[in-house]
Amino acid sequence: MSESESVSMHWQSPISPGISWYEATVPDRPAYPAMPGSRRADVAIVGGGYTGLQAAYNLAKGGADVTLIDACRCGDGASGRNGGQFGTGQRAWADEAEEVLGHERAQLLFDMAENAKRYVLDFASAHGIDIEFVPGQLSVGHKKSLENDYRSHVEAMAERFGYPHLSFMGREETASRLGSSHYHFGIRDTGTGHIHPMKLLVGLAKQAALAGANLYEQTKALKVEKKGGAAVIETSRGTITAERVLIACNAYIGNLEPVTASHVMPIRSFIGATPVLTDHPEILPGGESVDDSRFVVRYFRKSKDGRLLFGGREAYTADNPRDISSHIRRQIREIYPALANVEITHAWGGSVGITMPRQPFFREVMPGVTSIGGYSGHGVMLSNYCGKLYADLALGSATELDLLKDLKIPAFPGGTRFRSALLFLALSWYALRDRL
Ligand SMILES: Cc1cc2nc3c(=O)[nH]c(=O)nc-3n(C[C@H](O)[C@H](O)[C@H](O)COP(=O)(O)OP(=O)(O)OC[C@H]3O[C@@H](n4cnc5c(N)ncnc54)[C@H](O)[C@@H]3O)c2cc1C
Repeated sequence: MSESESVSMHWQSPISPGISWYEATVPDRPAYPAMPGSRRADVAIVGGGYTGLQAAYNLAKGGADVTLIDACRCGDGASGRNGGQFGTGQRAWADEAEEVLGHERAQLLFDMAENAKRYVLDFASAHGIDIEFVPGQLSVGHKKSLENDYRSHVEAMAERFGYPHLSFMGREETASRLGSSHYHFGIRDTGTGHIHPMKLLVGLAKQAALAGANLYEQTKALKVEKKGGAAVIETSRGTITAERVLIACNAYIGNLEPVTASHVMPIRSFIGATPVLTDHPEILPGGESVDDSRFVVRYFRKSKDGRLLFGGREAYTADNPRDISSHIRRQIREIYPALANVEITHAWGGSVGITMPRQPFFREVMPGVTSIGGYSGHGVMLSNYCGKLYADLALGSATELDLLKDLKIPAFPGGTRFRSALLFLALSWYALRDRL
């Protein structure tokens, strides 16, 4: 173990299970102090993931007095622990969205995600943050019956959405690019790629602090309310009085704010890392990341140093499975039988915030108090960009966030009492269909 690994590898997020391989390999994860007492700010931000930190960075750069609090450490939610895959577009395919929203709005939402991709890459390169970007993405089909949908998606993206980077892969090409014959076909996307998520998070937090944002960890928001025209956040370390508030808690919202909680549901997702696979050059020789067509999506890639990082095995309750490693190893074995007994060196999980139509949630939940989240598994690029757009909006510019406002995301049915139970039933049903 290198000295730099030992600095951070023992930190266990109190809100997400397991110590991630990212945590163990990020060279320096600064800790920020707890809020020293009550304060005022132009803008107060609750949540130190990509959304909140990008908002903080851009607001501070634009001259606003910003205070950001996180209940734990920045990156303890999804942003420091995800699969690192950019993907392309929103979580719902552009041609699916087109059927519901019409072409023009579907195109604008797609373009927004392309802007997000560029924004993250430019941000990292402008600040010298080594996010370990590796190009290439393979989306592979586990059921033959989906082949026509995949073929027509490739055509639609090139012909109607102006995205020429997709190509359809038959069985043979899919097998050779994956190093596995488990899937029937796939799509290769040369216009996207994957990153080391914690390196982005740490670099972003440092830039936000350098720009003058006040970052406080171990400071939990307990209540957000309006008092005499200002927004007041009661926290575990005093109150923050601000003109505006951004709630950027996403899937970790808990009972802080009921509108967000009824529109953004948490799903637990888990990842395992193997040792460096020196004996398996046939696995992902092109270095692409992979996601599959299962509803309980499996997503995997090799790290820059050659480990397999394999995600899957969702859970729809707050409970964590007792043994993440053996579940992940079982899924790896189905795709790569040669890795049947592979060691899982790190296993961890986190909560993904999903919405009913799998499009982001953006809403002013009370005057001056905005909540953003629900990127539905496509948040690596979108959350960064939405945080930036929120800052632009607060500083007075019109932004693409209006597109999200117009989506009018519906609440999950069932009310506070039955929502989780209904979601559990619905998702379990879809998960069952993966096997049929
Ligand atoms: C296992 C996993 C794999 C994923 N894989 C991918 C992927 O490959 N590609 C992709 O695009 N997306 C992926 N995602 C989703 C992506 O990581 C998220 O969409 C994105 O990171 C959301 O960022 P955020 O800032 O909105 O929320 P988060 O990063 O979750 O941050 C929310 C923060 O709010 C804080 N908080 C909550 N309540 C309070 C409170 N009361 N007071 C103060 N602070 C509070 C939390 O401590 C947390 O730090 C994955 C997610 C997970 C969990």
